[in-house]
Amino acid sequence: MTSIPLAAISAWHPQAPLQRVHFDWLAGVELAVLRLDLIDPLISGNKWFKLAPHLRLAAERGAAGIVSLGGAHSNHLHALAAAGQRFSFATVGLLRGHPQNTPTVQDLQGFGMQLHWLGYGGYRERHSPAFWSPWHARYPGFTAVPEGGGGLPGALGCAQLPAMVAAQLPALGWDDYHGWWLAAGTGTTLAGLVVGEGGRRTVHGALAVPLDHGVPEQVRSLLSEAGVSDAGYRLLDACRGGFARQDAELLAFMTQCEAQSGLPLEPLYTAKALLALRDAIGRGEVEAGRRLVFVHTGGLQGRRAALGNASGS
Ligand SMILES: *Cc1c(COP(=O)(O)O)cnc(C)c1O
Repeated sequence: MTSIPLAAISAWHPQAPLQRVHFDWLAGVELAVLRLDLIDPLISGNKWFKLAPHLRLAAERGAAGIVSLGGAHSNHLHALAAAGQRFSFATVGLLRGHPQNTPTVQDLQGFGMQLHWLGYGGYRERHSPAFWSPWHARYPGFTAVPEGGGGLPGALGCAQLPAMVAAQLPALGWDDYHGWWLAAGTGTTLAGLVVGEGGRRTVHGALAVPLDHGVPEQVRSLLSEAGVSDAGYRLLDACRGGFARQDAELLAFMTQCEAQSGLPLEPLYTAKALLALRDAIGRGEVEAGRRLVFVHTGGLQGRRAALGNASGS
């Protein structure tokens, strides 16, 4: 059985372009977008940066492959399966719910990921101590990566993003900027940015899930594990009634933003984060002349189904 190729994974340093964008609602706020959606045609978005440290740790241990979890539209499983195909290692996906043939699932199969559907009850058991033993027995030597590529390794993989922005500021004509704005799901990416910033700039996380779903606690615990002070960030509710909820105002706003900027968006994360920014500007919380970096966290593969009636993560 082949193992995970550490050298090839460590040698791949995808660069995300930093681009100025204009929307008619910015009211003098200046915005640049870090296009994580453009790092690769298949391995897209923040999920690669969260995944890479997990893959390196697994490779160092000589793991035979990676097993992880997600829904039928999961951006995380999509990036993992694409990475497995690219770097020739085995991947197993444990899926929430009952077999569905979404575009994401078709891609996972095409990338060679082995899929198992756990049902809803089975998926809810994923945090119980006994959950993993049958999977470790079935896939000996595989390393389990947490849902979404979370945990401290996932966060630290995102701590390099401020340096990626810094390297591109001169070309943008910016000497500096004031803060970050991004969609947050588990808050792992946000925590990584806070670590990378070391308190210099505020990181604003627009939550795609309700505030009472444990994200503030999760961010606090990641920062404490990283030995970094629990400051320098702000979480705001941007979920508009629940994860994957889509309303007419959101969809119209997304279409309008895409037309004004040429930036492709999806309704679960990036469009909700921008709408939350528009509203914050409207409330006077972000003043004219402020320069923000918006992280385009990707997720466009999920859009194929998200614009229908599906929900996922
Ligand atoms: C997963 C995801 C997020 C959330 O990232 P977290 O690190 O879980 O906060 C944001 N945007 C997109 C497009 C995602 O796929």
